[in-house]
Amino acid sequence: MAKLSLVVPCYNEGENVIPFHEAAVKALGDGELEIVYIDDGSRDATLHNLKKIYARGDCKVKIVSFSRNFGKESGIYAGLEHATGDYICIIDADLQQRPEIVRDMVAILEEQPDVDVVAAYQDRRGEGKVLSFFKRSFYKVINRLSKVALQPDASDFRTFRKSVRDSLLSLGEYHRFSKGIFAWVGYNTAFIPYTACARVNGKTKWSFWKLFNYAIEGIIGFSTAPLRLATLLGSVTGVAALIYLICVIVEKLTRGIAVPGYATIIVLILLLSSVQLFCIGIIGEYVGRNFEQSKNRPVYIAKEIVGEEE
Ligand code: UDP
Ligand code: MG
Repeated sequence: MAKLSLVVPCYNEGENVIPFHEAAVKALGDGELEIVYIDDGSRDATLHNLKKIYARGDCKVKIVSFSRNFGKESGIYAGLEHATGDYICIIDADLQQRPEIVRDMVAILEEQPDVDVVAAYQDRRGEGKVLSFFKRSFYKVINRLSKVALQPDASDFRTFRKSVRDSLLSLGEYHRFSKGIFAWVGYNTAFIPYTACARVNGKTKWSFWKLFNYAIEGIIGFSTAPLRLATLLGSVTGVAALIYLICVIVEKLTRGIAVPGYATIIVLILLLSSVQLFCIGIIGEYVGRNFEQSKNRPVYIAKEIVGEEE
């Protein structure tokens, strides 16, 4: 069997990393296995427990410990940089994504040489109706606005070939949105369903607002269509204003009075200024990201790396 690398971002997963490691070694330890753990600035015993895992030596382990919390996307990036396997799998540390599924993913890659990525999507969601409605809407919006096609519900839980990893790393953007990046680099992707298990310990780090911001990140990062909204709204209001102007002139000529129209003026001023502010806001989102990117800051800072041979 070819060499497999697991990339595991961990943020405050102190209670989960050891059960995860045991499950991973049990499911995948018969082949050549490397596990890259990223401690994403955890404030609990995560790093301590990762070092315990390293000391066990039951498979090849690398630990990249960040100087602060940089977010899961940065964790994935660091993990990919340090993963050396022929197949690489991104998997969560909380055992919601069972390591046994990785076996099936690897089997597909071995049997079908034309498949480069095997992505798991959640076949049944254990979450609320409201959240799942917003998620569905997000995929509709982004697939309309952007040229890359995102598979709804597909997670970061993926196994892929080394060449895909190199392509993922070649995208040097600061604001990383994995789902979009995966769609952007292309490659033949096979989708398999999986059922997310309940978290063994702790709770999810994704609040509704975090998810909302993440969605905005995805849309802004992979589409410039919102910028066109300003042009569109400008044209529509321009045409409307022209029509109204003609009406006013005709009224003045036929009836001889200019309508007082105080309310109309107030409403129009308020409406148009809010449209303008909205559009400036959208432009600001892009300018801000441009600013972040042009500072050229690293995606993460590692304060400690364990298990990296020179
Ligand atoms: N995670 C991370 N950095 C963060 C937030 C999350 O590395 O800032 C990791 C987390 O430890 C877990 C994975 O990303 O291994 C998925 O996070 P979580 O389980 O909270 O998300 P959910 O499964 O609810 O989507
Ligand atoms: Mg989870």
